[in-house]
Amino acid sequence: MSKEKVLSTIKDEGVEYVDIRFTDPRGKLQHVTVMAHMVDEDFLDEGFMFDGSSIAGWKSIEASDMKLMPDTESAYIDPFYAEKTMALHCSIVEPDTGEAYDRDPRGTAEKAEAYLKSSGIGDVAYFGPEAEFFLFDDVKYAVTPNKVAYEIDADGAAWNTDAEFEMGNLGHRPDYKGGYFPVNPSDDGQDIRSEMLSTMKRIGMNVDKHHHEVATTQHELGLIFDSLTKQGDNLQKYKYIIHNVALAYGRSATFMPKPIQGDNGSGMHVNMSIWKDGKPVFAGDKYADLSQEALYFIGGLLKHAKTLNAFTNPSTNSYKRLIPGFEAPVLRAYSARNRSGCVRIPWTESPKAKRVEARFPDPSANPYLAFSALLMAGLDGIKNKIDPGEAMDKNLYDLPPEELEGIPTVCGSLREALEALEADHDFLLAGDVFTKDQIAGYLELKWEEVYAFEHCPHPMEYKMYYSC
Ligand code: GLU
Ligand code: MG
Ligand code: MG
Repeated sequence: MSKEKVLSTIKDEGVEYVDIRFTDPRGKLQHVTVMAHMVDEDFLDEGFMFDGSSIAGWKSIEASDMKLMPDTESAYIDPFYAEKTMALHCSIVEPDTGEAYDRDPRGTAEKAEAYLKSSGIGDVAYFGPEAEFFLFDDVKYAVTPNKVAYEIDADGAAWNTDAEFEMGNLGHRPDYKGGYFPVNPSDDGQDIRSEMLSTMKRIGMNVDKHHHEVATTQHELGLIFDSLTKQGDNLQKYKYIIHNVALAYGRSATFMPKPIQGDNGSGMHVNMSIWKDGKPVFAGDKYADLSQEALYFIGGLLKHAKTLNAFTNPSTNSYKRLIPGFEAPVLRAYSARNRSGCVRIPWTESPKAKRVEARFPDPSANPYLAFSALLMAGLDGIKNKIDPGEAMDKNLYDLPPEELEGIPTVCGSLREALEALEADHDFLLAGDVFTKDQIAGYLELKWEEVYAFEHCPHPMEYKMYYSC
């Protein structure tokens, strides 16, 4: 919406509140609500002061004043609040200088877009994320076989004999893993997914489809590609709507990458393309009808994949997904054909749709930081002509050990990803898109998570070692 449209909508539609939203470094959407009569032209031009000292990873208590700058293009009427409320996504600036606050992820996304333009490589980069998620429900599935798959204990998705007993005769029920793609009743998520997608459409998002995914009670909704910062906003709206529609149905959604042992995890494949002067930079006559720039872009993604993992796979749980056998990648290889490598080139006849798909990211990522880091790695590939090597058109899960030798992998843990970020981050600092201070703050936050996880006795350790 334009600024004028925001102001006229507030007036004409009887908006009572304006919800000012921003994203913290971990990727969580935060908000503060003001009465709509406070929001005038000055408010939208000058921004809104707030105390950022309580947001993990941001300012200390002594220097906590920050300013939220609303982006009117992100405006929508919140579909969940009882009082009529307009939501606005914001970037954060320093109140004295008006410059972007360097630890604000949305500001990083804006700077990455400006850097792309200044590089001369392209005018705009498009991002098409495919964020998968699970829907769990303690009540509904307590007496169905599905519940069994949700039991996350020392045995992972172990069969629960008590639940089995409560369930009685199950002969008439569909198998609990009825997922990809049988119709109802195997797929019991039709109505809830439709309501999620329709809600997205109603608030003005560009969406196209939904479907069940491979794992038990795993789902995906289709978000049409958009430019970096806008797509960051869209992904935050996507998650917000999925969480809240799930809640309305008495269920809960999770974007945790690997909630169930032994079944597919949730990825967030990121499709990317760059355009310049109205033409697709990635279309050409090389491998899989890619351009040389696209191949170098892939070279950058593969070279910096371990650093990227710190942003694209930023949870300790992320690395339980990045294992062989579940359509998630392990090897740093690319291919037009198979889904087991880090980068795939989806088949398309249209040069306009030519894109590269990074398959390692997952939906625990902060979308602004993950998309920005991916773009910076790809641009580094183009600038430095990084050769991605030969494509690997084989199922990488089935390669014999001798063929696997020498193929680099993604990280095996968040610890490894943070060490990679510490060692290799100059490509992120180009054009001051990321800053050293921001990376230090991010590392501090994420090391806390690594220590919390590593220092905690795990249920699996009780199973393996209790009786040693
Ligand atoms: N769930 C898979 C993953 O973890 C992806 C499945 C798909 O190709 O959509 O990446
Ligand atoms: Mg999928
Ligand atoms: Mg995909």
